[in-house]
Amino acid sequence: MTRIKMNPIAELDGDEMTRILWQQIKDIVLKPFVELNTEYYDLGLKNRDETDDEITLEAAKAIKRLKVGVKCATITPNTARMTEYSLKRMYKSPNGTIRAYLDGTVFRTPILAPGITPVIPTWTQPITVARHAYGDVYRAVELETQGRGKAEIVFTDENGNETRKTIFDFEEAGVVQGMHNRIPSIESFARACFEYALTQKQSLWFSAKDTISKVYDEAFKRTFETIFNNEYKQKFEQENLTYFYTLIDDAVARAVRSQGGFIWAMKNYDGDVLSDMISAAFGSLALMSSVLVSPDGCFEYEAAHGTVTRHYYRHLRGEKTSTNPMATLFAWTGALRKRGELDENHALSAFSDAVESAAMDTIRDGIVTGDMALLMKEKCESVVSETFLCEIAKRIKI
Ligand code: NAP
Ligand code: MG
Repeated sequence: MTRIKMNPIAELDGDEMTRILWQQIKDIVLKPFVELNTEYYDLGLKNRDETDDEITLEAAKAIKRLKVGVKCATITPNTARMTEYSLKRMYKSPNGTIRAYLDGTVFRTPILAPGITPVIPTWTQPITVARHAYGDVYRAVELETQGRGKAEIVFTDENGNETRKTIFDFEEAGVVQGMHNRIPSIESFARACFEYALTQKQSLWFSAKDTISKVYDEAFKRTFETIFNNEYKQKFEQENLTYFYTLIDDAVARAVRSQGGFIWAMKNYDGDVLSDMISAAFGSLALMSSVLVSPDGCFEYEAAHGTVTRHYYRHLRGEKTSTNPMATLFAWTGALRKRGELDENHALSAFSDAVESAAMDTIRDGIVTGDMALLMKEKCESVVSETFLCEIAKRIKI
């Protein structure tokens, strides 16, 4: 059999158990069928330390240049990791660095596996959550005040002119919070959401609370509306898709009653809360895929979970672990499918579909990893990661 050829994508290797799965996925599932062509960047913590984290920025630049990347989970160092890896300094999260460089938005989509029913049984299609990743309460300035006094909000423009509003006249102790966002950041977020909705051929919801926040949330609502009307309305109509704004509380109620199958864009805090609710309700973090999309159309695929440290320590003790490779495998198929789409390399896109079908068939046949076995209603056999991947490879039909 001749293997499928492809143009390069950026490959970002990572840490711990997911680094082990990474190699197994390539060796067992991908390389027998595809002449993998990647620009390899080792984002393992040791190499980030050796390169003073330059490697992360280089990888981000490669994604921008090649348009498509696939990333393994990586350790975000904390004090314990500083000691464990004798690090020169406490590096920032690679995901944060890459997201900032690409000005991207993260879309998280659950993988619906046969036999695993979401907590909300009407959800027959995935709900993708898009979280705005800049500002609001995450960049807020806060004060705790004592006694009587006036809290004000003041904006001083570059000519020294002041605009002032009273927040509250305090008679007693209180708390105050000042937060901000940047219109260009909201615009990038909106464009990434509209672009992604078009590529996924799914409708887009955006929710906020403009009835209460008549300036701040209204600016989000207006930005989405303006960009939609000026740039995307026709394209959405051609594809029979809709853009729908509703209040966050109404959106929550509608989502619960829905069948899924849409993209839900949210402000930073709403996305923090609801993306975990949605992933838990769909099954497990090990079945959650994630893609970073930039407003100029670059795509970086990864699993939503971390490096699965506890399994890695078992692996180091010589145990074979039953770590779920689905989300990491789907990161690869997502990236290869996108490469195929951009280059009209139909064989490559078809291969991605075939791998995902094979994975579903494997689960349907009752062969799963330990975490999935706990979620399955039917009788099934829990196998180690390597066996699970071999079973998938056996079922690939191209
Ligand atoms: P985690 O790696 O997601 O794992 C938490 C727990 O969830 C695991 O111990 C395991 O539970 C279960 N789990 C997650 N993925 C699984 C999989 N594929 N198969 C089976 N079980 C899975 O989160 P963490 O332990 O909080 O973080 C570990 C490291 O990952 C940290 O250093 C963190 O910085 C990093 N991290 C990276 C990313 C990223 O690169 N995108 C994201 C999050 C965290 P059991 O042990 O009960 O089986
Ligand atoms: Mg959170």
